[in-house]
Amino acid sequence: MSDKSKALVVFSGGQDSTTCLFWAKQQFDEVEAISFDYGQRHRLELEIAAKIAQKASVPLRILKLDMLGQITNNALTNPDLDVETDKPDNRPPNTLVEGRNMLFLTYAAIYAKSKEIHNLVTGVGQADYSGYPDCRDEFIRSLNQTLNLSMDYPYEIHTPLMWKNKEEIWQLSDELGVFDLVRTQTLTCYNGIVGDGCGHCPSCKLRKNGLNSYIAKRG
Ligand code: ZN
Repeated sequence: MSDKSKALVVFSGGQDSTTCLFWAKQQFDEVEAISFDYGQRHRLELEIAAKIAQKASVPLRILKLDMLGQITNNALTNPDLDVETDKPDNRPPNTLVEGRNMLFLTYAAIYAKSKEIHNLVTGVGQADYSGYPDCRDEFIRSLNQTLNLSMDYPYEIHTPLMWKNKEEIWQLSDELGVFDLVRTQTLTCYNGIVGDGCGHCPSCKLRKNGLNSYIAKRG
């Protein structure tokens, strides 16, 4: 086994996973990224991911997982469904893609083992908890154990953003020297607009509120 530390980042080209990509570059000797083509309505996402990975000099592998859109109904893969703008009371918003993070991390782990990579990095977090159960720390720790058992291989899933709110994620990107890159080149908007986005979808609101409070704090 190589004594270099290697990591694989689950990467979408959004604010969170881009921050994780640069965090990983600081933490590990070698970093690779993996993105998933799961039938997301904004195909631009994959182009953005490829562009940012290239800028970061990180090799990117894009895997097709297009059955996800066939077995679930959600606003991210079904173009006929509008993204809910208000948070529903007793259930996750319709942007939840059931099982997405579990599948992404499982495929990432299989790929990582083939490349002798032990460290997996994902941008999930539960500070700005939006009702996605597979973003929770308890789930990540459970999956980590399951992956280790299923492949008899010691994985370590890193979640640098688990307890950070959006303001703190902006701060981390600033500390990593990629604040402007994250601000202008990532895609988080549910309406597929790069950078500051449409400004009114739930994802843009969260991102903008965090940005404004970070800028106010930084002065
Ligand atoms: Zn938006």
